[in-house]
Amino acid sequence: MIEYRNEPFTDFSVEENRKAFEAALAKVRSELGKEYDIIIGGEFIKTDRKLKSINPSNVDEVIGVVNEANEELAEKAMQTALKAFESWKKYSPEARARVLFKAAAILRRKKHEFSAWMVLEAGKSWPEADADTAEAIDFMEFYGREMLRLSERQPLTPLPGEDNNLYYIPLGVGAIIPPWNFPLAIMVGMTTSAIVAGNTVVVKPASPTNVIAYKFMEILMEAGLPAGVVNYVPGPGREVGEYLVKHPKTRFISFTGSKEVGLRINELAAKPQPGQKWLKRVVAEMGGKDAIVVDADCDLDLAADAIVKSAFGFSGQKCSACSRVIAHEAIYDELLSRVVEKTKKLKVGEASDPTIDLGPVIDDKAYNKILEYIEIGKGEGRLMTGGGKAEGNGYFIQPTIFADVAPTARISQEEIFGPVVAFTKAKSFDEALEFANNTEFGLTGAVISRNRAHLEKAREEFHVGNLYFNRKCTGALVGVHPFGGFNMSGTDSKAGGRDYLLLFTQAKLVSEAF
Ligand code: NDP
Repeated sequence: MIEYRNEPFTDFSVEENRKAFEAALAKVRSELGKEYDIIIGGEFIKTDRKLKSINPSNVDEVIGVVNEANEELAEKAMQTALKAFESWKKYSPEARARVLFKAAAILRRKKHEFSAWMVLEAGKSWPEADADTAEAIDFMEFYGREMLRLSERQPLTPLPGEDNNLYYIPLGVGAIIPPWNFPLAIMVGMTTSAIVAGNTVVVKPASPTNVIAYKFMEILMEAGLPAGVVNYVPGPGREVGEYLVKHPKTRFISFTGSKEVGLRINELAAKPQPGQKWLKRVVAEMGGKDAIVVDADCDLDLAADAIVKSAFGFSGQKCSACSRVIAHEAIYDELLSRVVEKTKKLKVGEASDPTIDLGPVIDDKAYNKILEYIEIGKGEGRLMTGGGKAEGNGYFIQPTIFADVAPTARISQEEIFGPVVAFTKAKSFDEALEFANNTEFGLTGAVISRNRAHLEKAREEFHVGNLYFNRKCTGALVGVHPFGGFNMSGTDSKAGGRDYLLLFTQAKLVSEAF
């Protein structure tokens, strides 16, 4: 087994790579509009309820038509997963890991094709889509190796006369409920971590990106995953998702999404149902209101660059995206003007155009919500750039910056999940840290500073799950930056880290007297 390494990103300045990506886009375009079935236990199922998946860059373009499940089919999926669990849990950890390694190899071969699906279905720019696919490959390579490590003999204190062993065994059937914003990476990570640990799952993908999730099901089938281990059940979260969450046979729920839905799932899962024999385990990774703190003594170019990348990459639709800049008053005006200048140069347009910086936001719901927040921002701060819709036949929004926003303002406190940043001035580094910690979230944060004492203080006091110094606050790499947040940002599961698989196992100790 070769040592784990991150999948490299594609260099699109190389013409050959650009051509290969264009070819992948053309291939995917030739496949648009197809119908996608529900998959339960290897059976392909159509229903009367069809959902069109739309290209957010061009709302007239239909990516695919997805058959949506209802409660009856969710029940069928649950029963199928329960049955499959009885045999899948007996597969050796090596055999389970091999499925992930094989799936990673297939995905690597189809890398650009999957990225192209994300360009068209999720509105990701070429590099953002490429990073998403690379991360999906990483998750499988990493979790496969992690399961091998967990299946080794675990260190216990020796006791003469006894043979003691600790085994990490699976939990049962899990409901996997991912978000649309990393439609491949997060969905793949959540699904494959659960199954490599020996569980079986029902995947209820995020509705805007059902097609990408289906394409991954094809990979799992090609990799030889037994039918019923992963069941693909698209449908409305409120209906199909909740049914799975409440089901007495659901052993765990792996959720990534908004705070509101995460809290609801946590509450529903806490209530035991008739026939339920366990406490459901809830892994919930939720929203953020991530701040970049900029100190008086810092590299301002680096700060401006980190802010623009963190705030506007994928139109700010990352849980880790910078949505607040808290800058020391000594450099506030200069920093603001550099960030505004850089932001004005950003190009908004169709995600398939390789020259754009920002694509669209995901759907009409997000579009309207972000525009509403921009209106709120106009009452709470000084509009520096952006401030509304951008042109195009899709959900395009201008990258928007507000200055002089109070740390308690709504746009400083509530997750907007779009290309909107609020600048707040602080009198001192201590006050900046205080402002940074004053939300209910605690996901990512960054400090741009040359002051060693300030960095050390932030290391202790900036209360976020992923803290970055002198770099952007997005772009966590599997194995390198285990990812998860504090407070209302979730359960701090640290996806892509060495603690993650433990969440989908239970440790059994067997002690035999000799
Ligand atoms: P949502 O919470 O709207 O949806 C997430 C998933 O939950 C979807 O599959 C959705 O299905 C489903 N769902 C919705 N309602 C229910 C319900 N009542 N019961 C069960 N399932 C339900 O989030 P988004 O998809 O809009 O994703 C964006 C959010 O995700 C942001 O808040 C972002 O910060 C967060 N996020 C957090 C990450 C982290 O690691 N902390 C990483 C990435 C995103 P449907 O689509 O059908 O509604």
